[in-house]
Amino acid sequence: MYDLIVIGGGPAGISGAVYAARKKIKTLIIATEIGGQSIVSPGIENWIGTLKISGLDLAKKFEDHIKLYKNNSLDIKKETVEEITEEKDYLNIKTNKGSYKGKTLLYTAGSVRRKIQIPGAEKFEHKGLTYCATCDGPVFAEMDVVVIGGGNAGFETALQLAEYTKSVTLLNRSSYYTADEITIKKTFENEKIKGILNANTTEFFGDTLLEGLKFEDENKKEHTLSTSGVFVEIGLIPSTKLLKNRVKLSETGKIITDPKTQRTSNNRIWAAGDCTDGLYHQNNIAAGDAVKALENLFFSIKKGEF
Ligand SMILES: Cc1cc2nc3c(=O)[nH]c(=O)nc-3n(C[C@H](O)[C@H](O)[C@H](O)COP(=O)(O)OP(=O)(O)OC[C@H]3O[C@@H](n4cnc5c(N)ncnc54)[C@H](O)[C@@H]3O)c2cc1C
Repeated sequence: MYDLIVIGGGPAGISGAVYAARKKIKTLIIATEIGGQSIVSPGIENWIGTLKISGLDLAKKFEDHIKLYKNNSLDIKKETVEEITEEKDYLNIKTNKGSYKGKTLLYTAGSVRRKIQIPGAEKFEHKGLTYCATCDGPVFAEMDVVVIGGGNAGFETALQLAEYTKSVTLLNRSSYYTADEITIKKTFENEKIKGILNANTTEFFGDTLLEGLKFEDENKKEHTLSTSGVFVEIGLIPSTKLLKNRVKLSETGKIITDPKTQRTSNNRIWAAGDCTDGLYHQNNIAAGDAVKALENLFFSIKKGEF
């Protein structure tokens, strides 16, 4: 029986595990992979105290940090959680490899990319339409490509692709971008990148491989763009299915937490990071929220709540 089980190996899960280990709480961290979403980023420039680091190097540092406490008060399992059930005095966490009991849970399973749902999207996925520039971008070297999205991820993707593609067109459905001003400025200083606002993508077309897309402008006028590479960055879906009947979720499926403590509607469960209803999602926020959760959780254990 663990005092605490942490699910997730992104900045939230790792922070929670490190703080728990240092407080000598008997803890198990379970994660499919260590690093989290920004593992695919070539350069993270706002992880406080680190001027620039690749997502892969940050993941390595995360792993080194938790390994420091391994077998002391922290166990580490690279497994995928499939089910969470609740008994009277504990939670039962079933993974693809085993079953573990925990008196409390810190849930930090983050989020996954939202898929675009328009005609042709499924047909051309991995045939020109992709959700990961780092993984698939180099295939489109010297070609004209399109990025759909107007947030930080969309802009970062455009900048990354401009390094080796012929041109990048950034299509954004609304009339304004949600990315940071500094990122927007830097992106449009690059002559290879142009942006089109009020561009609502309606269809992908081609024969066996993607050949282009159609979009409507604010007057519903249809336009066609020829391209063999489209990168979609239209937001994230919280990974909260496992907790559906255990904690209160928002309308968009995010875990509702008390912002002072990160505790959920279930007394045994705390949550932090991108899976929660916090307004902003960043590595530093995920880490900070998990620290907050741990402080509160530790206090609850000390008070003899479990
Ligand atoms: C391309 C990209 C670039 C980004 N760049 C930046 C940046 O420069 N700066 C910044 O601050 N933020 C950046 N972000 C946002 C940042 O990555 C997220 O805010 C942050 O990763 C959230 O951390 P998290 O710990 O909540 O969740 P995640 O990072 O999503 O981690 C979730 C963890 O849970 C695990 N998991 C999920 N389901 C299960 C399961 N069923 N069983 C076991 N484990 C599971 C996953 O394997 C993973 O380890 C970027 C995001 C993307 C996509």
